[in-house]
Amino acid sequence: MGQVDEKIEGMYQEVLKRNPGETEFHQAVLEVLESLGPVVAKHPEFLERKIIQRICEPERQIIFRVPWQNDKGEVQINRGFRVEFNSALGPYKGGLRFHPSVYLGIIKFLGFEQCFKNSLTGLPIGGGKGGSDFDPKGKTDDEVMRFCQSFMTELYRHIGEHTDVPAGDIGVGGREIGYMFGQYKRITNRYEPGVLTGKGLTWGGSLVRTEATGYGATFFVNEMLKARKDSFDGKICTVSGSGNVAIYTIEKITQLGGKCVACSDSNGVIYDEKGLDLDLIKQLKEVERRRIQDYTATHKHAKYIAKGNIWEIPCQVAMPSATQNEINGKDAATLVKNGCIAVGEGANMPTTPEGVKVFLDARIAYGPGKAANAGGVATSALEMQQNAGRDSWTFEYTEKKLEDIMINIHSNCYETAEEYGAPGNYVLGANICGFIKIANAMVAHGLV
Ligand code: NDP
Repeated sequence: MGQVDEKIEGMYQEVLKRNPGETEFHQAVLEVLESLGPVVAKHPEFLERKIIQRICEPERQIIFRVPWQNDKGEVQINRGFRVEFNSALGPYKGGLRFHPSVYLGIIKFLGFEQCFKNSLTGLPIGGGKGGSDFDPKGKTDDEVMRFCQSFMTELYRHIGEHTDVPAGDIGVGGREIGYMFGQYKRITNRYEPGVLTGKGLTWGGSLVRTEATGYGATFFVNEMLKARKDSFDGKICTVSGSGNVAIYTIEKITQLGGKCVACSDSNGVIYDEKGLDLDLIKQLKEVERRRIQDYTATHKHAKYIAKGNIWEIPCQVAMPSATQNEINGKDAATLVKNGCIAVGEGANMPTTPEGVKVFLDARIAYGPGKAANAGGVATSALEMQQNAGRDSWTFEYTEKKLEDIMINIHSNCYETAEEYGAPGNYVLGANICGFIKIANAMVAHGLV
């Protein structure tokens, strides 16, 4: 182990000690730190100014009680979080996740990743993330509204268009953003569209924001395929999840000539050999808020595999779009064995370190989340631009901007990997490229 690597190992040990029990955060930090040896060897000023140690420590962490009443009038208590990780490049920016698994370690892993992702977009945004252990599943509309109002009654004092701009993530879509925006407006008596992104189209939202993460991830995979003189045309694809990211990944893959045969949720997998009927999935998930199991009620030829593993279905392109650590080493090996040539992560950190190693060793095109799913936050930044200019752009114009951003992220990661002697390694490319821009800004800002 070289001197620099030893120093970085020491920094990682310090992170473990300072953040006990936060395993997802540890995993996200290790994955970035493992790429940084050659960078700090070239830039001794980053070591001197303790940039890595400072990047691993959030600038601010807010934890708060969220009391609300269910429809029976019973008092419920959840926990709310907002971790403002790094503002070197702009206001904190990152989504809110409502899911029962949420605790500080999840929000910190997401916030940490978000910093590098936002840097990669080339737009002026810092990194943050938030959420709650509230489970929207099975709640009525009124319950979701009361929860969102209580959540915002604390959060409002920490956010603002130049400070911190939250958006959606798992369990937070247009409905939740609407309720939170309404409460923010009511408390502050200010109509400030720039305070949240993912808003409705008639009140400050941007066209393409709903589609952005899925479309962006697919554009990124398309670039990886192009770099290998290949394309989506005729490729069999599987997409995990059936939420916002999964739905628009399936849509764009289909537009680019691929065939999606499977999607999933936390209960099971739908396999439709003929190609998924996306209109039906949208109707079930976006309009009726039902489960994908109901797909087979009208499509008898399709199979529902309860508790199934989507990665066992042979495909050429896999796009994990559900949650963290959904592909383990064994799943990754199965994918490669079955002929998978490209993996694009719509979800954040969906592949375990063992799985990542399998993909890198097999030299398939592997696009890590912080690069591949950056289209969502990039379009959020475009929404902020439109809000600031009191403007609204057409779908075509916004989608073209998103595509250009994804092409740019791909080429930056690709070229950085080559420059650092690891051609084709998008993990290294994304980590280094994202890090250097933040590190330079932090050096310029002095010790803050
Ligand atoms: P949604 O809530 O719209 O959908 C999430 C989907 O993933 C659902 O189908 C859900 O199934 C499934 N899922 C969630 N948790 C689990 C779990 N523990 N095990 C199995 N399946 C699970 O969220 P999004 O589509 O917005 O987010 C999906 C991923 O994309 C997340 O990793 C998120 O961080 C990432 N992402 C999202 C962005 C965005 O713009 N929305 C931007 C960048 C990344 P079920 O209904 O059964 O829970």
